[in-house]
Amino acid sequence: MKLTFLGTGTPEPYLRRASSGYLIEHGADRILFDCGGGVFDRLLQAGHLPQNITHLVFSHLHSDHMMDYARLVHAAWDARGVPLKVFGPAPMARITEQLFGRDGVFGDDLRARTQTEPSQQIWLARGGTLPRRWPTPEVVEIAPGDTIAEPGWKLTAVEVPHAQPALICLGLRLEAGDKVFAYSGDAALCDGMKQLAADADLLLHWCYRMDGEALHPALDPMAPTPGQIAAMANAVGVKRLRLTHIRPHMDQPGHHQAMLAAARQVFDGDLAIAEDLDQITL
Ligand SMILES: [Zn+2]
Repeated sequence: MKLTFLGTGTPEPYLRRASSGYLIEHGADRILFDCGGGVFDRLLQAGHLPQNITHLVFSHLHSDHMMDYARLVHAAWDARGVPLKVFGPAPMARITEQLFGRDGVFGDDLRARTQTEPSQQIWLARGGTLPRRWPTPEVVEIAPGDTIAEPGWKLTAVEVPHAQPALICLGLRLEAGDKVFAYSGDAALCDGMKQLAADADLLLHWCYRMDGEALHPALDPMAPTPGQIAAMANAVGVKRLRLTHIRPHMDQPGHHQAMLAAARQVFDGDLAIAEDLDQITL
């Protein structure tokens, strides 16, 4: 199993870090966790093509986790890609219909591409056949507690506190072969996340706040610090920990060292702050 970090940032505009996106390669599968703004370009930079993505899994539907969804689906369709399965919390199906349905955001674009003579001729010249079908991602809405079994791997979702009640927010655990990858989404510390992360070969956890940094009394309990995340990871036997969802000010001189120092006080395993295009093989 190989993980490539495609987006380790936040909604804040930042060239160094795209919004959330993480690619897992396992066997012939290309499983993309979240697809925030900038992830599409990072995918290309990492040497991958959108039409080769086999699965897309959303932790939740905050914009910074799904802004490039439409671009990925449209580009994969235009390149006659492999069938794309999309797993995400409700209203994943409604959003997909609102984008790619007959009356959706891209309805007129798709009518133009599939029905006008010049576009049809270009499509034929590119090796396509007529009639040209519309994009048809297979959407499966997942709910807290669900387990998805695909050939060669299993995905478990639990609800994590983040942006309820507006959004269903999930933490995710991928088991493939004898390896476990756990992804927090944007989780507050909770028992569900501990269960997901138990004995994980890698825990990828969001980190929106440094130790000693106060954002707002309502937000601080929802945004665990490196020290808090690392203590949880250590308690449940995580082997490797990567911190992600990093804000621009957290990259200022000295801050990484402080974040890692706070985490190392309570975590014995391999530890780092994720960077776009970094890779880890499990
Ligand atoms: Zn979020």
